[in-house]
This record gives sequence, structure tokens and C-alpha cells, in this order.
Amino acid sequence: MKALTFNEHGGIEKLHIAEMPKPTIGADDVLINVKASALNRLDLFVREGLPGLKLPMPHIPGSDGAGVIAQVGANVRALRVGQRVTINPGLSCGACEFCLAGEQSLCGDFKILGEHCAGTAAEFVRVPATNVLPIPDDFPFEQAAAAPLVFLTAWRALVSRAKVRAGEDVLILGAGGGASTAAIQIAKKAGARVFVTSSSDAKLQKAKELGADVLINYATQEWDKQVYKLTNKRGVDVVFESVGAAVWLKAIRALRRGGRLVTIGATTGPNPQEEIRQIFWKQVDILGSTMSNQREFAEVMNLVLRGELKPVIDTVLPLERAQDAHARLASGEQFGKIVLAM
Ligand SMILES: [Zn+2]
Repeated sequence: MKALTFNEHGGIEKLHIAEMPKPTIGADDVLINVKASALNRLDLFVREGLPGLKLPMPHIPGSDGAGVIAQVGANVRALRVGQRVTINPGLSCGACEFCLAGEQSLCGDFKILGEHCAGTAAEFVRVPATNVLPIPDDFPFEQAAAAPLVFLTAWRALVSRAKVRAGEDVLILGAGGGASTAAIQIAKKAGARVFVTSSSDAKLQKAKELGADVLINYATQEWDKQVYKLTNKRGVDVVFESVGAAVWLKAIRALRRGGRLVTIGATTGPNPQEEIRQIFWKQVDILGSTMSNQREFAEVMNLVLRGELKPVIDTVLPLERAQDAHARLASGEQFGKIVLAM
């Protein structure tokens, strides 16, 4: 089969299309003929190499994908060949105390498709049947591929972890990333007033179209002071944070007393300057969140499939242009998801 691969970690020039063996499936797996594969920032980190991540080479990246079931394992009863499906990219052991409690992303053996094992940027991908969700006949593959990772991440972070309520102020740092475009819609749906920051007025306008209420351009204004001013020196109830070191201290300062910061990533680095007094004196909660459990995946994807939450797609490119796709994502110029079409 045709697949996007790399033989060693490095820049976009390491990516190339190669002929790879079609995956063989186990009794509890399905084989999916991939129609669309969406990029996440994780794809860039995996290509560049992550500390402690040892991959058999060549590696096929891609966590998000949608397609048609080509083969089902002997034990699979609920799915059939020919069904159109999308994929939950979180893989767990299914047997530990956390998996048994329905908290798959707390599993000690938690893995992400395309990070720890062969991913979706290929003609075929193998996934456990429990990670597959059927999609309606008229739901586009590009959207079905674009949604899962960012929507399940933003859903768990804002709904399950930060417990955003109607009437609260939620600050989303950075407007253009896939997770931010999901978080804006989820916070808005929860009834919050949504603050968004970006260095681009064009991106802020697009965020407004998604439902953002308060737009702050951090290139022209000091965003933390602006938040303070716009909330009458109170601060926001919740900060949704994936930027990391570059904004950490200001993000905590932007919280109201007793507010919650939920972190899902650290794009600009994992070791921020910390101000412990800001945490205990203001009594803020720092919440970590990673991916989601199966229930959260089903909850948020049902809203996506019903059209109540919309994946935002920046660009669709053919698989052969994967280098351009990675370059665009790395540039930060995109608004929403970059999708590779097979
Ligand atoms: Zn487990």
C-alpha cells in the first residue's frame, strides 16, 4: 500500500511516499481504507523526534483519519465491511484499573495512533474495533478526519476537567490551532463568554465567526492586562492553555481568584517560569488534561456528527503534498485543520 513515511527523525524533507506492507489485523481489530488523514501538531513533534519515543522505522505518522472499513477481525460484531467510519486515536490496554473505570487516557499504557504505532497517513490503517465510530453517509471524510483529536481534547479539558458553566469567562490562548477552534465552540456551547488571543486580526475575525466574544491581538496589546481591564480587574474563570512556557505566568495572572487553568500542551516549551505565590494566594486550580476517555469521545463526536460543533478546515492537500502540509502547520499561518486526502 501507499503510505507517508519517514526513516529517521528530522525536517519535512524526511517525509516521503513509500510502498509499505498492508497491515494485518487481529481478532479485535478492523482494517480501514483511509480516505482522509488530518494533521495535528503532534505529527510535527513525532517527525522531529520526542524524548523517550523510540519508533520502529520506517514510521507512518497520522493520528486522525476517516475512511471505509475494509476488513473486520473474527471477534468484531458491531461493525461491517463497507461502513464509513472515523477513529478515536487514543489507544489503551483495556484491562488496568483506569481502563476498567472508563478512564482510558489515564491508562499507564496509553498510546496515540501515529505517535507510538503506525498511523493514518496511508491507504490502510489497523485500529481496535472499540476505537471506531460510524459516520453518516453524507458526512464528508475530510471533516470526519479533522474532528476527533482536537475535539475530544478540548471537550475533556473544558467540560470534564475545568467544568465550564454558563456565564463564566473562558480565555483561549491562540486562535488558529485546531484545538482552539474546537475549544471556542465548546466553551460557547457551554454558555461561556469566550475571550481569544492571536497576533493576527484576520484569525481573530475567524474566531469571532466561530463564536468568540472578546478578541485580543497580543501583537498590539498586552493581552494579560487587556483581560484584566475587560473583566473589571477580576480575571477570567478558566484559561484553556496549550502554548506553554511563553505564556504560563501571564495565563495564571489572567485568572480570577479561585479560577482554573487547564493545560493540554506546551508548544513553546515545558519549563515555564513559575510563581507559586500566584497559585496559593489566588487559590487557583491547575488542571492537566490529555486526550479523552471513550465516553467523552462519543459525546463530542455525536455533536460534531449532528453539525452542532464544526471542524474548521484550513486546507485539504493530496497525500503526495504532505511536506507542504507539514510546512504550513509548522508556520502557524493556518486557521483550523490541515487534511491529507488519499
Ligand atoms: Zn489501561
